[in-house]
Amino acid sequence: MMYDPQPTASHYVNGAYLEDTSGTPIPVIYPATGEVIATVYAATPAVIDAALAAAEAAQKLWAKVSPRERGRVLTRAAQIMRERNHDLSVLETRDTGKPLQETLVADATSGADALEYFGGIAAGLTGEHIPLGEDWVYTIREALGVCVGIGAWNYPTQIACWKGAPALACGNAMVFKPSETTPLCALKIAEILTEAGAPAGLFNVVQGMGEVGSALVTDPRVAKVSLTGSVPTGRKVYAAAAEQMKHVTMELGGKSPLVIFDDADLDNAVSGAINGNFYSSGQVCSNGTRVFVQKGIKEAFLARLAERLKNAVIGDPLDEATSFGPMVSERQMQIVQGYINKGRAEGARLISGGGRVERDGFFLEPTVFADVTDDMTIAREEIFGPVMAVLDFDTEAEAIARANATEFGLSAGVFTRDLSRAHRVIGQLRAGSCFINSYNDAPVEAPFGGVKASGVGRENSKAALDHWSQLKSVYVRMGDVEAAF
Ligand code: NAD
Repeated sequence: MMYDPQPTASHYVNGAYLEDTSGTPIPVIYPATGEVIATVYAATPAVIDAALAAAEAAQKLWAKVSPRERGRVLTRAAQIMRERNHDLSVLETRDTGKPLQETLVADATSGADALEYFGGIAAGLTGEHIPLGEDWVYTIREALGVCVGIGAWNYPTQIACWKGAPALACGNAMVFKPSETTPLCALKIAEILTEAGAPAGLFNVVQGMGEVGSALVTDPRVAKVSLTGSVPTGRKVYAAAAEQMKHVTMELGGKSPLVIFDDADLDNAVSGAINGNFYSSGQVCSNGTRVFVQKGIKEAFLARLAERLKNAVIGDPLDEATSFGPMVSERQMQIVQGYINKGRAEGARLISGGGRVERDGFFLEPTVFADVTDDMTIAREEIFGPVMAVLDFDTEAEAIARANATEFGLSAGVFTRDLSRAHRVIGQLRAGSCFINSYNDAPVEAPFGGVKASGVGRENSKAALDHWSQLKSVYVRMGDVEAAF
């Protein structure tokens, strides 16, 4: 069975599809051809209200379900996702344009990993007993209530699961708003959760642009907001959530450094730089887009990189042989082209790519600039496209200082054969998710998130649980109460 990209209806509320065509139409465009493959409608105030009311009712029931049973529902959902991986991957490819070669291994599978991990951990979530001599304190790990998830367009399935799975494991309900650019996949997660036994209303999906996100964030029924998006959106959403003192997780943008020392294994370093710049056509928040290469290895690195880039298979993303797909939208393609033009104008040396690919859709060539300096626009701003900036350096201290000279702090990577240097350098790089002799691995077992402008809170791993639950502490006095009068 292949999923029809046109969903049954735009929204998924209270365990069923829901339509309201009076909302703004949102065309869904297949990035590899530019054709409209589906239309959904932005949620109206009535749809938003229905989703929040359903979530509020479901959360009350769900909080009473034993954690073991909650975990079982998530684990079942993970199993269903794995069984349907191929169809879900094709839908993700149509939604985003990412090659099937990637989506088959990085999207529904990663979503299933999160459902499995948090499904497995749910029954082990407990408070603690704190002895105080005669008296004692116990803690209860409580759900927050109704949580809102807001997604970016690069990983629609993964983002919905990375937020939904820990939220539900901790006893919360969720209203999820996918990016308006990629609205299709989250609906399937909602369907699958229902099929796996989640009560109606536990995981709802509403479509829409920023206004819908904003209406959700400001609703007093909402206890927590988890956003994956850009820094400017993060600032707005964080501020709006602060007004009502809501919990937040902010997974935002980056301009991460990848530092390659002279002694690095050349091919591994080139592979790391390719993974950290061209996977998903560069539309990955944690990408290592500032590649600092020590002077002794620089020309060898550039030559090997240019050679390896010739092996990229650019083409139909639904063909499993394709390893490099289009930008998600015409707008994103234009933004990236603007940066490429700036790179040229500001004097960076174009090593490869730089242009559009002659075919329908929003394809850009994998692009590498060398001789990039710290003040160039392409070294400072998040491009979110296939543009690698190679900068050179002399000393370790210099590389660390320059790598840290950014408002962002999502990721950082180091390639070197000197392991004490690797740990020393990583220890000084100000970033949340780091790599040694690797780049962009994101297993659910590891915490993921940023420092500085790149975000607040952590997704995945046991660390996520603290961001989807709160502790009630109960002091128990065993003897008489003393009072001053
Ligand atoms: P975006 O900031 O434009 O939009 C993100 C989401 O926020 C969308 O669903 C959008 O509709 C919604 N939104 C916009 N304005 C809002 C408002 N005022 N209130 C509530 N919601 C609002 O980001 P994008 O272009 O979809 O995604 C690309 C960005 O996301 C990049 O900066 C990238 O680095 C970042 N990103 C971060 C991570 C991470 O985990 N750190 C992962 C993927 C993408």
